[in-house]
Amino acid sequence: MRLTRTAGTAMLLVWVCCAAQPVLAQGDVPVAPPRVPPAAVVAVEDGGARQAPTQYAGHEGHQYENRTITLKTGDTLFSLHYRACVDESHGDRVGIVEGYLGMPQPSNENWYGGGFFRLALNGEDVGSYRLVDVCVSEQGERGQCEWVWETPAATVRLRFLLEAGANHLKAEAVWQPKVEITKASISLLCYPSFFTSWHKRKGERRVITPRTDQPEGKPFDLVPAEDTYLFYCDRIFDVANGEGKGPCAVLFRPEDTQAGKVSVGGYGTTTDLEVKPGVTQVRMAFWDFTGKTNTAAQAWLAENAVKVRNELTSADFQPQALRTYTAASWSAETATLLADAGESGAPYQSEVERLAGLLKDLEQTAGPGGWPAERAVLKALPQLEQTRWQLKIQALLARGDAMWAK
Ligand SMILES: [Zn+2]
Repeated sequence: MRLTRTAGTAMLLVWVCCAAQPVLAQGDVPVAPPRVPPAAVVAVEDGGARQAPTQYAGHEGHQYENRTITLKTGDTLFSLHYRACVDESHGDRVGIVEGYLGMPQPSNENWYGGGFFRLALNGEDVGSYRLVDVCVSEQGERGQCEWVWETPAATVRLRFLLEAGANHLKAEAVWQPKVEITKASISLLCYPSFFTSWHKRKGERRVITPRTDQPEGKPFDLVPAEDTYLFYCDRIFDVANGEGKGPCAVLFRPEDTQAGKVSVGGYGTTTDLEVKPGVTQVRMAFWDFTGKTNTAAQAWLAENAVKVRNELTSADFQPQALRTYTAASWSAETATLLADAGESGAPYQSEVERLAGLLKDLEQTAGPGGWPAERAVLKALPQLEQTRWQLKIQALLARGDAMWAK
């Protein structure tokens, strides 16, 4: 096959950019077609940090920050809302008015929009420290977002994962201790189905587990091995009665949790989980069954809880895109391409090495403390892909030149 080099380049670029049928005969071009990114079935949108002066008591005139990240697949949508007084006067801490991480969608009720999740290490609320990072770490086949804190006690990462077609959010709190952690606990707050007292109404709250069914008004202790999920509903504010939003639920793993207590209030319900000593990774799943009747939601949970618990255990929260390249695969492939490209590959050498360095850093800093290396590779993925394809073109052209010279 005879082509001028210019014509060959133009045709190759058309092929690479458009993923059209190869314009060169198959025998001449031993190169795979470009990888097509997966369809974006889970979309994640970060509304960005917004700061404005607040009038909250004790924080008058301070800068208060709000940030909402929304994850969506099909008809399932969850929003997570970070909020804190980030005024400089708080030093390395922030001011928390109600909570710092809420779930305002699908409903403000259920997992409370004003703050539903708290993690405390050695009795100190992780969220009382300044965030060091927030990001959307993944979208496409799955969607994920993450909050990171560096506290004096630990590096803490909190991730929320929504998978295509799922009706729940999977969560992972993981920490790398800097000092001995003698106590870790998680507190959850929900207002099942309806803000009863706010609307001067009286409901009939129940918290139901596979082991027990508890009415409002008295706290009860959890048996983690048996109370593997908690279903929070209100018998008055049930969609079946034309009242309320619908129930909510959480699932946790007995291997993470040594004890727990639920205070079933007529208004808010708090769930306090005590993490097992030595455990530094807690996984949970959250449901907001807005629009579902108590009966339908409870039946779904009873049938599917074991499956979701198994999924939680096997889930890999590391963004899938980080597995596209290993340092070894990158170095091996680019070494061959650079050798084939000869002189025309030389301008790519330093970029190839820079990107190899990022992949090595990622592999050498696994664990919660490795979050900056993960961010660097996620950010560099377009450059990795672009450099690889530019080198492939140079290698291909050089091979063609060598063939024509024969
Ligand atoms: Zn303040």
